[in-house]
Amino acid sequence: MNKDFGLAPRIFVVSLFEAGCVLQLPGAEELYNLYDRFNEQYFERKLPPSRRVTIAYSNRLTTSAGICYPKQHTIRLSTYYHLKYPEEIKATLLHEMIHLLVPGHGAGFKAWVLRIRACGGRVELHAKERAVIKPARWRYLCRGCGREYLRRNRLKHGGGRHLCGGCRGKLREQRLP
Ligand SMILES: [Zn+2]
Ligand SMILES: [Zn+2]
Repeated sequence: MNKDFGLAPRIFVVSLFEAGCVLQLPGAEELYNLYDRFNEQYFERKLPPSRRVTIAYSNRLTTSAGICYPKQHTIRLSTYYHLKYPEEIKATLLHEMIHLLVPGHGAGFKAWVLRIRACGGRVELHAKERAVIKPARWRYLCRGCGREYLRRNRLKHGGGRHLCGGCRGKLREQRLP
């Protein structure tokens, strides 16, 4: 999970609204709380406290679930990946937290994975295969601002109950070849 290829996809899945509600991902405060909890629970507070760390979602990160810049104390979590797999957010955060201490996925990293698992945490050694983006099958175009949302799976009700995150306009559904 080390490479950010810097691609800027024309996808803004971060802010799709469903029936007036933003699709649920933990907000910043919750992420920082999780971080502090994990730091205490699994790392014996060996990591810097959350006030000295930046944790943020990235819309540009589509090739991996997360990325860590240990020198900058920065963790980025792929919005794209976690809107698809919201149940993975804690595992990704834990994985990237290990990278604050250990670069790469060698013996040192594995030791942390085993230690965390022994304490009941769920963390993966490598990004899952499914982190690789499969081609979208559905396109939703905002009738208001023209923003494009690509999806592998069809939105419920053909997107009829979703609104554009940018302008809250209605979406037009299109099946991709
Ligand atoms: Zn990694
Ligand atoms: Zn719009």
